[in-house]
Amino acid sequence: MTAWPRTLYGRLVGILVVLMVSVSAFFVALTISATRLHLQEIDQTLNRDLATNIVHDNWLSPSESRDRGNFERSFDRLMAVNPAIELYLLDPEGRILRYSAPAGRVKRTAVSLAPVVKFLDRSRAPPILGDDPRDADGEKIFSAAPINDGTRLIGYLYAILDGEQYDSALHMVESSYLLRLTLGTMIGGVVLALAAGFLSFGLLTRRLGSLRAAVDQFNAADPHRPFGASDWIVREPGDEIDHLAATFARMARRIADQLTQLEGAAVARRALVASISHDLRTPLAALQGYVETVLMKEGTLSEEQRRQYLQLALQNSQKLGHLVEELFELSTLDGDERPLNVETFSLGELVQDVAQKFALRAREREVELRTAIESGAALVDGDIGLIERALDNLIDNAIKFTQPRGVVVVSVTAEAGRTIVKVSDTGRGIPAAHHADIFKPFYRVDRGGREAVEGAGLGLAIAWRIVELHGATIAVESIPGQGTTFSFWLAPAHA
Ligand code: ADP
Repeated sequence: MTAWPRTLYGRLVGILVVLMVSVSAFFVALTISATRLHLQEIDQTLNRDLATNIVHDNWLSPSESRDRGNFERSFDRLMAVNPAIELYLLDPEGRILRYSAPAGRVKRTAVSLAPVVKFLDRSRAPPILGDDPRDADGEKIFSAAPINDGTRLIGYLYAILDGEQYDSALHMVESSYLLRLTLGTMIGGVVLALAAGFLSFGLLTRRLGSLRAAVDQFNAADPHRPFGASDWIVREPGDEIDHLAATFARMARRIADQLTQLEGAAVARRALVASISHDLRTPLAALQGYVETVLMKEGTLSEEQRRQYLQLALQNSQKLGHLVEELFELSTLDGDERPLNVETFSLGELVQDVAQKFALRAREREVELRTAIESGAALVDGDIGLIERALDNLIDNAIKFTQPRGVVVVSVTAEAGRTIVKVSDTGRGIPAAHHADIFKPFYRVDRGGREAVEGAGLGLAIAWRIVELHGATIAVESIPGQGTTFSFWLAPAHA
């Protein structure tokens, strides 16, 4: 992990600390102010009648109140009983006449009578705050009582109750065990919550961190190496991080596969170009050779020799033409440029027609060409021209690779709702090692043999692509020395 706060962990921890500190500050402030109000309420309730009792118990008589010396003595007595109390004698307008505080401490000459009136008619529950004479702007809880001279109101006794004990929060915390306990518990809780938060965020982000490391490693390393096994163990069913890791692993595998495919395609393309050039060069060189010979030996060649050379030149040019045509056909089939011209037709009839077409060639090679069409074989949907081309290639191969007196059978059967075509021969067969490759362009089992002259290895590739375009596949079964069967299926026609 890099320096804070650039990591997710750093940010989460930062947010947690800020949240916890602000919430705790709010609660501390709330608790202190609630405690202050509560203490003031208790204090004022307990001392509600303090001023009344002082007045009624004649601690202060109206006559005494006029004599400052006596008054101060009475105050001193009272202060000795309860030093937390500050007493003030007010006239009916609230002006301070006498007080018990040391000289110089009193900052006001009068206090507001509104809270005193509220206090006296008991219309409001404590705490009621009145002006604090020792502080020009401050307010404190108090007790007050009217002083009457017979029936006439001559003033009020105003007693500030809490002195200076609730002024500072620190002082309050020091003096209240309950407050200390509450705040202590709260701080303990916050510390515990922070520790738990750090730990759980750490555990959560550690997995993200190791996923990131695995991704970085994948990015830096060989992209063919599949991501997953050693880098990251994906738990199933997992959370979002596991999901992310699984998705990334899939993506990485796809990238590796695509890379392999791309490289494979490049190799295949190079091989294809090499094969094309090689296969074009052979008949072209032969063609050139025969024509040159005819030209060079113009006068010396007999008419028959001349004809023979020209015949050979023609054969090679036909082969060249055939090869170019097959290449063009394969590239059109591969490029999806040729849309399928789908129609409904009878596969049985098509097979009969194609077999008819090859009858002469089979006879020439002394191969028996038979058809076996199951009666009731369904109609199929497909591109009749292309299917005929695929059949041409398969039957052509079967005749080509079968020795004289061999047999080629083309059958059409219906199996499990599909129409199956099989082209079987009693030829030399194809070793199993080649089965996967024979459908690749230019692939020939034995390039040096007779067939090297006869075919370029494109026939099966074209047939495969045609059947693939029809949503099906070609299968091959073969026993070397005994024969080969190529089969493919077509979907039945839609009603
Ligand atoms: P070609 O056009 O040269 O015949 P194909 O693509 O049709 O090429 O066939 C590829 C190779 O598969 C042939 O060269 C041949 O070796 C082998 N092959 C195809 N069909 C048969 C078959 N019926 N019997 C034996 N070998 C076959």
